[in-house]
Amino acid sequence: MVYFIGAGPGDPELLTIKAARIISSCDVIIYAGSLVNEDVLKYAREDAKIYNSAFMTLEEIVKVMEDAHKEGKDVARIHTGDPSIYGAVHEQMIELKKRNIPYKIIPGVSSFLAAASALKRELTVPGLTQTVILTRMEGNTKMPEMEKLSLLSKHRATMVIFLSIDKIDKVVEELKEGYDVSTPVAVVYKASWEDEKVILGTLLDISEKVKKEGIKKTALILVGDFLKDIKAYSKLYDKEFSHGFRKREI
Ligand code: SAH
Repeated sequence: MVYFIGAGPGDPELLTIKAARIISSCDVIIYAGSLVNEDVLKYAREDAKIYNSAFMTLEEIVKVMEDAHKEGKDVARIHTGDPSIYGAVHEQMIELKKRNIPYKIIPGVSSFLAAASALKRELTVPGLTQTVILTRMEGNTKMPEMEKLSLLSKHRATMVIFLSIDKIDKVVEELKEGYDVSTPVAVVYKASWEDEKVILGTLLDISEKVKKEGIKKTALILVGDFLKDIKAYSKLYDKEFSHGFRKREI
């Protein structure tokens, strides 16, 4: 069996209990060394064979999985955050399917959730925004026409932008097409790691602040009114509001 495992955003304690258990039982481990905290490897068996996929091609990764499968061994393929977000797991799963190698996916805590925790914010604030857009700036991967940042920004929803901190100027330029220039922006560098950094600003000054800090990678850009000083409360715990579990007080 091949297990695609979400290793969480960095802090090894944010690995799920299930992920830790599976890592400790696997014969072979392939981890995404560019982002996965190597501390999660402490759960691995002493005799486990460990590969860093940062130095491998898709063919090489699949070959390791295939060889292990032939020998009846289990493989832990460790991805950062949750594998379903920019994880490049899709093509690995296709290759495994072609070879009839069984696989399972173990979810993880995505970095955007660790960023919300670092900011001590709710991404969905009643009356303000109820939608979270997870996206990225165009890079080597082309963006579909309808998903350009400038278009998405017109919704003025909460937006979390991955893989784009090195293009912060262009990001800001596109966001200004939809959001007001005074809209707050937060950049969270290495959320949940010991050297985590949070930079707060607006569309007007965030770019300059990020450059001053020298942040060029492993960061998320979060934008939207959810970062404002919000006074409104949600209805969920309001005594004037009843729902399935609690009747209105009269
Ligand atoms: N699957 C991962 C994302 C992989 S794409 C997840 O669910 O989080 C890699 C991008 O994720 C990085 O360029 C950066 O934008 C973001 N990222 C990953 N870990 C991060 C962290 N700890 N703090 C801030 N951003 C992070």
